[in-house]
Amino acid sequence: MVSPDGARQKWRFRTKIFGPLAGVTLVAVLTATFVFYLGIQRTDEASVARQVRETRQAINLSIDKLAKEQELVAAWDALVVTLEQPQLDRQWLNTNIGKWLYKLFGHDQVYILDVEDRPIYAAIGGEQVSGARFRTIQADLQSFIDAVRGRIHHRNGPHDRNPGQPPATNNTLLTSERMVHESGMVRINGRPAIASVMRIVPFTDTVHVQPGREHLIISVQFLDRKFLKDLASLNLIDAPRFSMSPVKRKGEEVLPVTSHRGEPIGYFFWHPDLPGSMLMRQTGVLTIFTVLLTIASMALLARWLWRATSELQSTLIELQASEAQAQHLAFHDVLTGLPNRALFNDRLKQALARARRGERVAVLALDLDRFKQVNDTLGHHAGDALICEVAECLLGLVREGDTVARLGGDEFAVILSDCNPEQVEAICERILAAVREPFSLLGHQAFVGVSIGVVNVTVDATDRVDVLRKADIALYRAKAEGRDNFCVFTEEMDESVRLRGAIEADLRDALASGTGLEVHYQPQVGGEGYRVVGLEALVRWRHPTRGMIAPGQFIPIAEETGLISDLGEWVLREACVAAKRWPNLFIAVNLSPVQFRVAGFAERLIGIVRESGVNPSQIELEVTESIFLNGDDYIRRALAMLRASGMRIALDDFGTGYSSLGYLRQFKIDKIKIDRSFVQNADQNADSVAIVAAVANLGQAMGITVVAEGVETPEQQRFLSAAGCNGMQGYLFSRPVPGDELALLPGLA
Ligand code: C2E
Ligand code: CA
Ligand code: CA
Repeated sequence: MVSPDGARQKWRFRTKIFGPLAGVTLVAVLTATFVFYLGIQRTDEASVARQVRETRQAINLSIDKLAKEQELVAAWDALVVTLEQPQLDRQWLNTNIGKWLYKLFGHDQVYILDVEDRPIYAAIGGEQVSGARFRTIQADLQSFIDAVRGRIHHRNGPHDRNPGQPPATNNTLLTSERMVHESGMVRINGRPAIASVMRIVPFTDTVHVQPGREHLIISVQFLDRKFLKDLASLNLIDAPRFSMSPVKRKGEEVLPVTSHRGEPIGYFFWHPDLPGSMLMRQTGVLTIFTVLLTIASMALLARWLWRATSELQSTLIELQASEAQAQHLAFHDVLTGLPNRALFNDRLKQALARARRGERVAVLALDLDRFKQVNDTLGHHAGDALICEVAECLLGLVREGDTVARLGGDEFAVILSDCNPEQVEAICERILAAVREPFSLLGHQAFVGVSIGVVNVTVDATDRVDVLRKADIALYRAKAEGRDNFCVFTEEMDESVRLRGAIEADLRDALASGTGLEVHYQPQVGGEGYRVVGLEALVRWRHPTRGMIAPGQFIPIAEETGLISDLGEWVLREACVAAKRWPNLFIAVNLSPVQFRVAGFAERLIGIVRESGVNPSQIELEVTESIFLNGDDYIRRALAMLRASGMRIALDDFGTGYSSLGYLRQFKIDKIKIDRSFVQNADQNADSVAIVAAVANLGQAMGITVVAEGVETPEQQRFLSAAGCNGMQGYLFSRPVPGDELALLPGLA
């Protein structure tokens, strides 16, 4: 199939290159051919004109020649004397005139007339014949005779011929001027001939003839084959012939011949010498070859040009295509084909411009809830497939003018045009419901959800960055509120975010200056009589203006901002100081999952403990189950390394997370801390009792210490010790207190 581009290119090539080229070639070839043929024709015409002149000249010369030959006998004393004799010597005449003129010059008929124009001698073909034969031709030659006799105007006289003037049509007499004669073309008995009639005069003064009483001699030469042959060989005329009919044969040229009286007597034909045609015959093949070569060269040139332009064109098309592709790539996500962040920003700018003019616009920030799990458990291909399916799903739920973009990873964003808050909420509900449905990915079913942050753009909210920030805040809130839901941004959220920002900055300062942060210690009891066996280090922050801030408020901020690493290491250093102070107690330190993600984390903790000179076995590290979720190798290695250094590992808040007993086998754990929710529900909830008992049994079986947290009442204490717990921690024994106050506790002095 020819693409429209290809067809257009072909058309352009035809009109712009091929057409003119073919035109120029055609004109050049036609002009050259025309000039060539014109040259040939003109050359031939000139040649024919010259030959006509020459042939006419040749005929005139033959007439002249006839007269000259005749003159040899006409001006002869002996002939005059012979003719004056009373008894005519015909024998002499025959020998010296008739035979002689025939044999020597080919005069076909010779006649001699007396003063009265009576024939006294006649010879045909050199043989004497009866004078009566003259009568048969007399009529044809009468005008010649009359002219010579002076009865009519004599045309061959000296006064007729001016020097330099061309001779009369059929008569040129070059003989001596005193020879009165008449000669020319004539038709005799219907046959074309040349004839000459001359007065016979003495050659010398010794013989006299009375002027006007001369005899006449007549010579006739027919234009027969022999005459023509001589004419041809003498004048280089090719294939001459004489005919009464003017019809030309092929390749012949014709010259009409007229008598001296202007009557037509026939046509002289010959094959003209045509140098132009000959040249054409000789060079014709070469010429045709040259023309063909020229056309072929032009065709080759056209072909070459066509190829060159085609290549250029296809290069251009490729360039355009790759430019378009690059353009598309620059503004679209490769995986889903959705607009990327750059294009989204542009669309958002336009949407905000519409919002300024009063249109209701909403911006949605979306984040998939369990994308990481899908990626980790089913692989990256499944993760990619999930992203594509969600993209499809979102596109199906919004209107045509709306924008769905992928901002990266599992983050999407949507711009909804022309919709009120109720419609926005309805769309969010529909998105939530759709994404809640299981996705089938590469043969597996995956359950994910989505959290959505919504901003209903107001007329004055025109800053793109600000709108996106608000959408992110709402999204964060949606996630914090348990995910799989949407949250519409309110100004109050902005306030809490601002507060977080302030807390972050203050925490940074506190860590840098070492002021305001404290560690409180809560005892853990165990063994016979529930002695204090260890202390849990719990961080406290005495804020200069806000007062005491609970760890639940600032630990998440520290985790988000990465400050948790510095904070955790600071607490560990404090704990080491405490460990030295109470060498018989272990000190428990809480670790955040975020700390595990920082490279070299385990090495640094080991370094801190080693530097302090504390026996690592005195330090217990509390981790939560969430760190096992990733199943990453480096977490396994970090835990193993920490444990190998001599520190113990406790699983904190056991029962609130995934509570997979598999972890206990996979990772070497020294202690399980049952979450206080089980302890505090134990009196109302039978399940809690069963779970505590089961965990205690399991711990016993696996050699893992089991400790219950949040023990507040003696009843709880009794139930837990009955269930088989090895240790306890809770307000019943002590609240977390500053290190200095620990000395006041019974048994810790
Ligand atoms: P956690 O590790 O589970 O710590 C025990 C929390 O329970 C402490 O709260 C403690 O005051 C409280 N508690 C102890 N006994 C009782 C009781 O009988 N009844 C009740 N209702 N509560 C009791 P705190 O100090 O507010 O700490 C809260 C959480 O903050 C901790 O939970 C821990 O996850 C985190 N945290 C505290 N200090 C640090 C720290 O230095 N590093 C890290 N990463 N997290 C810390
Ligand atoms: Ca803890
Ligand atoms: Ca705990």
